[in-house]
Amino acid sequence: MYTAVDIITAKRNATELSAEQITWMVNAYTAGDVSDAQFAALAMAIYFHGLSDDELFALTTAMLNSGTTLDFSDLGKPTADKHSTGGVGDKITLPLTPLVASYGVAVPQLSGRGLGHTGGTLDKLEAIPGFCVDLTEHQIRTQLRDLGAVICAATAQLAPADKKIYALRDVTATVDAMPLIASSIMSKKLAEGTDTLVLDVKTGTGAFMQDEADARQLAEKMVWLGKTYGVATSAVLTRMDTPLGYTVGNAIEVEETLEVLAGGGPDDVVELTLTLARHMLAGAGVDADPAEHLANGKAMDTWRAMLTAQQGDPDAPLPTPSHHHTVTAPESGTLSRMDARAIGEAAWRLGAGRQSQGEPVQATAGIRLHAKPGDTITAGQPLLSLYTETPDRIEPAVQILEHAIDTTRTFTAPELIIDVIR
Ligand code: URA
Repeated sequence: MYTAVDIITAKRNATELSAEQITWMVNAYTAGDVSDAQFAALAMAIYFHGLSDDELFALTTAMLNSGTTLDFSDLGKPTADKHSTGGVGDKITLPLTPLVASYGVAVPQLSGRGLGHTGGTLDKLEAIPGFCVDLTEHQIRTQLRDLGAVICAATAQLAPADKKIYALRDVTATVDAMPLIASSIMSKKLAEGTDTLVLDVKTGTGAFMQDEADARQLAEKMVWLGKTYGVATSAVLTRMDTPLGYTVGNAIEVEETLEVLAGGGPDDVVELTLTLARHMLAGAGVDADPAEHLANGKAMDTWRAMLTAQQGDPDAPLPTPSHHHTVTAPESGTLSRMDARAIGEAAWRLGAGRQSQGEPVQATAGIRLHAKPGDTITAGQPLLSLYTETPDRIEPAVQILEHAIDTTRTFTAPELIIDVIR
């Protein structure tokens, strides 16, 4: 049979692996028969040499088959799902899920927690008093049938190989490898059993794929994997150089979600929510303009019903921080840069994310932006409000933000939506 050393050696020497070798390695690592050190060596070899399409398909399939898969074909309604490759201030899942569900589509949004400088949907939702993210498969199914909208944690049985491999990549500098990201995302999403999948692939300083050509390649590979599995998959390539909206954190991102669901909210958050909703609705065969249900309150009704179904109190006030600090504009001019990565990292340091695995996050920590690129600003005006429960975290966060802001004389904001890949 195979040995881990032979497989690692082959990939280190840039030799193409067979589907059987890849499947063996994934299964043996998931079962604990291959060590962390050995799988980390393989991940690093993949980081440097990449994977062929056949290898990528085999890796994704092995990770998908490492656990159970869900099947919602008996719900009597179409299913559509969205996944973002991760950004700063990316709260889009929150308004998008009830919005699409309000049109009679089931949206099984199995989400994750914060990773590094990028926030986690579950951490944001847990800022809502009482909200429960841990549901059984039966609860997910019932809620999808009755309401259409569910945002919860993926069960432990769903693509367990990805959970183990992801945790290893996180500590071995192998997160930002295109084939490893593609197989990680698609193994989870294919296991969710959705009919339609819309991917939000981000590029820019705040994204895992900073380079646009790399992000485009990632999008193309994921669309190819989805379609090969019979899922109607498309990808929207979006810019992530500036945080989305005016809030980065947990409770404050929920607050901005409520503005969008009430028919207002920041232009970029609304634009991306509507763009992704249009693709999901089209994939589900629904001919409608999603802007209508933001304007007439139907998306908000579904949001409130989803919160109630998951033990959250839609009328409870959101928690507020006990400490804050204001960063002011260093000079007058047109704001040309508010660096997404620096703001994401500063929010993470303030307590919106974790320093180590399993640590609780602070619901109230985060950063509020008072201006966005393109705005005219005056020296000394408030630009950012920093929030935390732990005042000694403010100084390190301020240091991270030192080179995050630029001004110019003229500035043209680039388009948020770069392209759509089908
Ligand atoms: N999100 C994932 O689920 N996996 C990755 O590898 C990167 C982002």
